[in-house]
Amino acid sequence: MSSQKNKPVSHNGNGGSAPSSNEKKNLSAREEKLQEIKCELVKQREIILCEAETAINALPEPTVFPDLGDQASAETDRSFMLQLRGREQRLLKKIDEAIDRIDCGTFGICEVCGEPIAINRLIARPVTTMCIACKTEQEEDEKQTGL
Ligand SMILES: [Zn+2]
Repeated sequence: MSSQKNKPVSHNGNGGSAPSSNEKKNLSAREEKLQEIKCELVKQREIILCEAETAINALPEPTVFPDLGDQASAETDRSFMLQLRGREQRLLKKIDEAIDRIDCGTFGICEVCGEPIAINRLIARPVTTMCIACKTEQEEDEKQTGL
């Protein structure tokens, strides 16, 4: 805990229409929590990327990259992502999706039954996309089908 960075992370890159003034003054308690979760996710994402970068830099032989010229960091990011181990990659994808869902306002809604997921569950497992009831049901199904 040495550096203090409080500047807002600008999450651009998806293009599309970004509403310019998106500041709501009266966030509900749930929305506030969601923003906290988003901060946590962004932090987690940075940690994973940082660790992955360290690991990649530690590789003995640098991969030969084609000359990308000014094909921006997106390409670099992509090839970088491809080098992440599967587990990190999957987690990173989930984190990205969760951040996207927070931005879209669809975060915390069960993708199966459409009900809001309990905030405590979201805090414990931000990348979840199902409420406890549906998740439990799914796990039961998986047990029964032997997957
Ligand atoms: Zn559900």
